[in-house]
Amino acid sequence: MATNDQPVSVVTGGAGFLGSHLCDRLLAEGHRVIALDNLITGNVANIEHLAGRDDFLFIKHDVTEYIFLPGPVDFVFHFASPASPIDYLELPIQTLKVGALGTHKALGLARAKGARFVLASTSEVYGDPLVHPQPETYWGNVTPIGPRGVYDEAKRFAEALVMAYHRTHGLDTKIARIFNTYGPRMRPRDGRVVPAFLTQALRNEPITVFGDGHQTRSFCYVDDLIEGIWRLAHSAEYEPINLGNPAEMSVLNFAREIIAACQSRSVIVHRPLPVDDPKVRQPDIQRARERLGWEPRVPLKEGIERTRLYFQNLLNSGRL
Ligand code: UDP
Repeated sequence: MATNDQPVSVVTGGAGFLGSHLCDRLLAEGHRVIALDNLITGNVANIEHLAGRDDFLFIKHDVTEYIFLPGPVDFVFHFASPASPIDYLELPIQTLKVGALGTHKALGLARAKGARFVLASTSEVYGDPLVHPQPETYWGNVTPIGPRGVYDEAKRFAEALVMAYHRTHGLDTKIARIFNTYGPRMRPRDGRVVPAFLTQALRNEPITVFGDGHQTRSFCYVDDLIEGIWRLAHSAEYEPINLGNPAEMSVLNFAREIIAACQSRSVIVHRPLPVDDPKVRQPDIQRARERLGWEPRVPLKEGIERTRLYFQNLLNSGRL
């Protein structure tokens, strides 16, 4: 039941993977939630269980266009963006626009409403890192003109814009640098390693490891990530904070984990490594530990099992 004393949160990208989980959490905490999404990579299936609630409103809107919303807003969470390497290749201009113009519009909304602003930034601001693991103080190693540059630079620009609003207008802002996160509601064909490997393993098809598979990633389960976002949103921090799971592994070993989790007959095959694919990635989460009292709790095996069940359901119902 919506009441006037409930906090109001706006979530851009509210029908996406992270955005929809964030909507769930905010509603569970008693917020009224307005989700905005243009659905180019988001999916209403991610929020269909919220339809009909009087404390939830979905508006199909491209956040690079002016955002008009009546009434008070307490939090703006800017989570809209294509978020996988093949999405950046297919949607390079939209990726740049939502990071730049979309962040500007979302900041403008927060400023007009006196709301707190939370940016979903990314470990991609570190590019192909020369410092390992990556602390927030590392400036990164990004090429502006490579195919991934559209995402990396858009998010770097977004961070710069957030800090400018913070310094110039005194806006209450937060920047989460989100490392590889996985869980239910990832898009099956978004090309990222978790949906790709799970889909292939469940179908007993070859697992496509890019390059020699020695590149590393560190995978965080979505519930842990959302807990970090919640804590950050209620903290006094305005400096960027890494949110991710420091448990690092090679992509090759990750493929083996997925095969075992699915009891799959898949074999591993190698495909060319995409351009500018970072060789290593691992968050230094000391800042999140100290300032938010946060660290991930869900072990990889458990997170993979929950995610496997989601993809198994899609497969069983012909939606994979
Ligand atoms: N990857 C892979 N096979 C796939 C998809 C991805 O080996 O079918 C690799 C990719 O090259 C990268 C890692 O898995 O090294 C993570 O890729 P993802 O697209 O999930 O995100 P990234 O961390 O690169 O942004």
